Amino acid sequence: MRDDDGLRDLYQEVIFDHNRAPRNFHAMDDASHRADGHNPLCGDQLTVYAKVSGGIVQDVSFIGHGCAISTASASLMTEAVRGQPVEQVEALFRNIHAMLTEAHPDCDLGKLEVLSGVREFPSRVKCATLAWHTLHNAIIQAGDTAVTE
Ligand code: ZN
Repeated sequence: MRDDDGLRDLYQEVIFDHNRAPRNFHAMDDASHRADGHNPLCGDQLTVYAKVSGGIVQDVSFIGHGCAISTASASLMTEAVRGQPVEQVEALFRNIHAMLTEAHPDCDLGKLEVLSGVREFPSRVKCATLAWHTLHNAIIQAGDTAVTE
């Protein structure tokens, strides 16, 4: 078996696990930010909730339904961005997008690199980026420091 295949198996394992048992999969009543996301190409639908204060994403969760990649990507996202400064989350969003649409992001994305396998399937890229676009929209809509309540 080539190393590539081993790595791909690992990636599939992580995506399978996050799809089967998504992390932070619940609505958030006291969220300061939320947005809906829809990927009509695949039928994926998500709502992303975030609690932002002091420029930090204190908590993040999601609900919705969609394919394994969209669910796993959202689940991985919630783990990656919780506790991060908003600026860092925006940088991550750009880097994830680069990883999925270009050859190499100029940074180490750690566990999120499991999503890079999607690059080989252009029709699935939107599945993987949906949660990130939705979180991005949620945060942008309310501005840097604004809290809607
Ligand atoms: Zn999908």
